[in-house]
Amino acid sequence: MKTLLKNGRLLDPSQDLDTIGSLLIEDAQITQVGPEVELDDATEVYDCEGLWIVPGLVDLHTHLREPGEEHRETIKTGTMAAAAGGFTNICCMPNTTPPLDNPALVDFIMDKASAPDAGGAFVAPVGALTLGQKGETVCDLAALKKAGVVAASDEGGPIQDSAVMLRAMEYCLQIDLPILAHCDDLSLSRAGAMNEGATSAMLGLPGMPRSAEEIMVMRNCLLSLHTGCRIHILRVSTWGAVEMVRQAKYLGAPVTCEICPHHLCLTDEAVGEFNVNFKTTPPLRTQVDIDILLQALGDGTIDCIASDHSPYAPYEVDVPFEEAPFGMSSLESTLGAVLTHVTHKGVLSPLETVRKLSTGPAQILGLEAGTLQPGGTPVAQVTVIDPSLQWTYDVNRTFSKGKNSAFHGASFQGKAVATFCGTEIYRDPLFDETRYQSVLP
Ligand SMILES: [Zn+2]
Repeated sequence: MKTLLKNGRLLDPSQDLDTIGSLLIEDAQITQVGPEVELDDATEVYDCEGLWIVPGLVDLHTHLREPGEEHRETIKTGTMAAAAGGFTNICCMPNTTPPLDNPALVDFIMDKASAPDAGGAFVAPVGALTLGQKGETVCDLAALKKAGVVAASDEGGPIQDSAVMLRAMEYCLQIDLPILAHCDDLSLSRAGAMNEGATSAMLGLPGMPRSAEEIMVMRNCLLSLHTGCRIHILRVSTWGAVEMVRQAKYLGAPVTCEICPHHLCLTDEAVGEFNVNFKTTPPLRTQVDIDILLQALGDGTIDCIASDHSPYAPYEVDVPFEEAPFGMSSLESTLGAVLTHVTHKGVLSPLETVRKLSTGPAQILGLEAGTLQPGGTPVAQVTVIDPSLQWTYDVNRTFSKGKNSAFHGASFQGKAVATFCGTEIYRDPLFDETRYQSVLP
């Protein structure tokens, strides 16, 4: 089987490649890429004129909900949503039921994700930092790493006790395991439902102060600086948090950070109708935050973009605002939102956009992903993007079980139209089928 992606714009930050050319996949491996790809016997050809050919997107922050919360999402539906969103690699968070705090559960995830009927994206599990995610006793992280986790995290149950976090960092440093840090001081934010500010006061909703996030970003950056442990700050949302990260990097701490699309284009004013789809943690902030976060994305202080895909069952979000859970289902909206609100507004070039969504996150966790170089990944991981396709995001057409999204009904410009992950190929319903030719019988 030889698949030729012909005459597209090749964008690969791993080799600083931005040129018109073609890419050849032979038996699920990338074998040639560049302006001059030699081929006369392709079995199928995709005409990619006007499209981008990029390394499969990589998400460091996905909630797959399995085991224990299959009413929200499963490994299968989550990986199908990933492929539809252009992602070939996703890292699944440990706050499942039970949490991923022992090797048997890591085995369970990896077995299910690699089963023949899984959904078309690789899954890299993230282990819990503490037993039961209670924030008290650090897990046997060496055993978790041996089982296959690519990082450890307190996502979903941020460690409040600084001494516990210090012990976790000292342990992770010893075994060279990065920490994905959920930064939230619950003593300040626990009672809140949205950003603390004029809108929360007007609506009479309890607020979550920005300091709740910033205090923990600062604490974790300082612990990283003093221990040397690698940490990746999950979804920064305030200008203060990103300034802390900037300062920590300047001081030499091995810190990286990510941002979610909704924190780049939506403010707390969107909550105005008590719409639970706009309830996230950290909460949607203000336009001042967005302006500074976009700048930090452009100057490299923010290393990557992540989805924080957080699906819920419809009945769980059909409740009053204060009772609703935090988060949105977002694997299938992330790329459209980023292209529309970041790339097409000139904040990031196309190549830098691919760096933030693929090569960058792969490098942060050392994943074999984020490159189009032949042999650079175990199997071909390639996403074809139509950067100018106008479309409307409709949760009723998504693969994810979670229909909770602030972007339902939003107009986007740009979409992943085909995702290649090994032998799995996903073609979007909006892919122009006249671009596809097969000489197979
Ligand atoms: Zn999350």
